[in-house]
Amino acid sequence: MPDCIFCKIVRGELPSYKVYEDDKTIAFLDIRPVNAGHTLVVPKTHANNIFDISPEDWAAVSETVRKLTIAIEKGIAADGVNIAMNNREHAGQVVHHPHVHIIPRFKGDGLKLMPQRTYKEREAEESAQKIRDALKQ
Ligand code: 5GP
Ligand code: ZN
Repeated sequence: MPDCIFCKIVRGELPSYKVYEDDKTIAFLDIRPVNAGHTLVVPKTHANNIFDISPEDWAAVSETVRKLTIAIEKGIAADGVNIAMNNREHAGQVVHHPHVHIIPRFKGDGLKLMPQRTYKEREAEESAQKIRDALKQ
């Protein structure tokens, strides 16, 4: 994809603090980190998000995330790590090339990632059934 900024980073046309590369994936520091060491793992082949990445590329991204999470916790001396992925605009995706955020966390850093709530009556049962039905299609 010529105008995709993460494709440009993959091709070396834009600078980045690259920390890892293999035949299918690269990992580099996010330019605006939540905490220092915040890393993005991306497939080298362009797609938009989780919905159209190939199963092979997703498997490769997942394994790179696993490796990098271990290295980031150790190297940055983090107390824990969050892994996150935004898919589509209304889920907060800004760069439309699949990427997994690996965010080192520190005791007392005060970050609250997602507000949670309780289910309304029948909502859990109905939601679970909709997902089971979609899996059958
Ligand atoms: P999204 O909201 O799409 O999940 O996250 C996109 C991420 O890409 C953001 O956290 C943003 O800081 C990061 N980002 C955007 N442009 C660049 C760039 O040119 N270089 C790097 N390294 N990160 C970028
Ligand atoms: Zn791309």
